[in-house]
Amino acid sequence: MLDADPASLELSPDTIRALGADVIDRIVAHLGSLDRQPARGDVHAEALCRSMREPVPERGTDVGPLLDALFNEWIPRSFTTPGPGYLAYIPGGGLFPAALADFISASTNRYTGVWMAAPALVQLEANVLDWLRVWMSFPDTTRGLLTTGGSMAVFNAIVCARERLLGPDIRDGVLYTSTQVHHSVVKTARLAGILPDRVRTIPVDGDFRMKVEALAEAVRDDRAHGLRPFMVASTAGTTNTGAVDPLDAIADLCAAEGLWHHVDGAYGAFFHMCEELRPLLRGLPRADSLTLDPHKGLFIPYGTGALLVRDGSALRDAHAATAGYLPGTPDPDEFYDPSQYGPDLSRGFQGLRVWLCIKVFGAARFRAALAEKRALAVDAAARIAAVPGIAMVAPPQLSLFAFHLTWPGAAREDENAATTELIERVTARGRVMLTGCTVDGRFLARVCVLSFRTRQPRIDACVDDVAAETAALVAYFATIRAANPPPGAR
Ligand SMILES: *Cc1c(COP(=O)(O)O)cnc(C)c1O
Repeated sequence: MLDADPASLELSPDTIRALGADVIDRIVAHLGSLDRQPARGDVHAEALCRSMREPVPERGTDVGPLLDALFNEWIPRSFTTPGPGYLAYIPGGGLFPAALADFISASTNRYTGVWMAAPALVQLEANVLDWLRVWMSFPDTTRGLLTTGGSMAVFNAIVCARERLLGPDIRDGVLYTSTQVHHSVVKTARLAGILPDRVRTIPVDGDFRMKVEALAEAVRDDRAHGLRPFMVASTAGTTNTGAVDPLDAIADLCAAEGLWHHVDGAYGAFFHMCEELRPLLRGLPRADSLTLDPHKGLFIPYGTGALLVRDGSALRDAHAATAGYLPGTPDPDEFYDPSQYGPDLSRGFQGLRVWLCIKVFGAARFRAALAEKRALAVDAAARIAAVPGIAMVAPPQLSLFAFHLTWPGAAREDENAATTELIERVTARGRVMLTGCTVDGRFLARVCVLSFRTRQPRIDACVDDVAAETAALVAYFATIRAANPPPGAR
C-alpha cells in the first residue's frame, strides 16, 4: 500500500480508490443496519479501553484490519446516536451529504480562515449563515459564525455582550438565566470572565419557563447593590424538559433595561423554520444573539453549531484582529472573513457540510422533517400520558417531553427509583434509548424526538416498551411497599 520511498507520505491513485471503495462499502453496510442495531451499544468498556492502549506505531500497517476493529468492535460499543431509536439527550441523526462534504474538505484541504485564501468557498459559508438568518427572521445587519457546537456559540455571544455593554471593567457585570439553563452557559460565562457569583439563575414556573417578574426583580436588586446587569440568556427549548422561555416578555424587559438578550436555541431554534410552529417561539427574532445547533435540529453530524448576532458589528468588534502577514478582504462589509468574526484562524471548513446538505435536500424537506418530529412527539406524549402509572410533568412544547412513574401512596424516592429503572429497562429492550434528568429533586424520564431517522414505527415501539415496563414496575413497587410500609405508615 505504501510507497517504496521511505520518506514519502503520498498514496497512489489506485490505493486511494481502493481505500475509498472499502470505506464506502463498510459505511453503506453500517447505515443499512442502523435500524437493527441496539439503541444503546454496550458502553461498559473499561477492560476494552485498557486493552486498547498501545505504544506509538513505528511502522505503518494496512488499513483493512484497522477498519475491521473500528466497524466491528469499537463503533458498536457506543450509544447508537445516528439510529432511529435514539430519543436520548438531544438527537440529530447525521445527514450523509455532510460526510461527503467533510471528505471533500479534508481531501482538498483549502484554507477558509481568511476570505482571500478561498473566496468562493467562504462565500458558501456566508450563504449558509444568511440562510440561517432568514429562517430565524433576523435583519440584514446580522452576522454569524459557524462553531464546533452550541457551547462555543454562546461563549462568543457572551464575549460580544460583555465587550458591548461592559467594556474593560467586567467584574461588576451580571448575567441572568433560569434554573433550567444548559450548563454550557454558566461554564462559558466563566471562560468569558463572568464568574459564577455574577450569574443569577432565575426560578421557573410550572411549565419550566423563566419567571419574568423574578427576573425583573433580580435586575432591580443587583442595580440597587451597585452591580451592572448586562445580559439575559434565555432558552428556546431547554435540554431537561424542552421548555421555551417567554422570549417576547424577556425581550421587552431587556429593551427597557438596556440588556443584551441572548436566546439559546441549540435544541429548539430550527423549529422556527416551520411557519405554523413560529407561535411556539414568539419573540425569538427579537434576540440580540441566538445559538443554533445544526448538529441537532438541522440533522448535521456532530461538530457544527452556529451563532447569529443581530448587530453584526458587535461580533466583528469582538473578534477583529489583523496581522501584517495576513491578506485582507476587498470590502469587509460585503465579503465575509471568518477569522474576523470568531476566535479561530486556521479552521475546518464547516460551511461545506451544512451547505451541501441544504442544497441536496432543500429547505422544504427540512421543514417537513421538523414538523413531523414535533407531530410524532405530540402523539407519543399523548399515548404515554394515557398509560396507567405515568404522570406527564412536561408535555411537549416542541418535540421533547418528560414524565415519571407514580402509583397510589408512592413516596418521591420510590418514584425516582422506579423512573430510573424504567429508563434502564426500556433501553435494555434495544429499540429506543431514553435518558432522564433531575429537576428539583424529582427524577424525570425524557423523550426527545429530533433524529431525522425517527419515524412512526419507532415511536410506536417506544410507546409499547414504556407501557409494558411501566405496568411491570408499578406492580412491583406497589407490592413491595404494601409488604414493607415505611416506618410510621399504617
Ligand atoms: C446541546 C445544547 C447546548 C450545548 O450545545 P453543544 O452543541 O453540545 O455544545 C446548549 N444549550 C442547549 C439548550 C442544548 O440543547
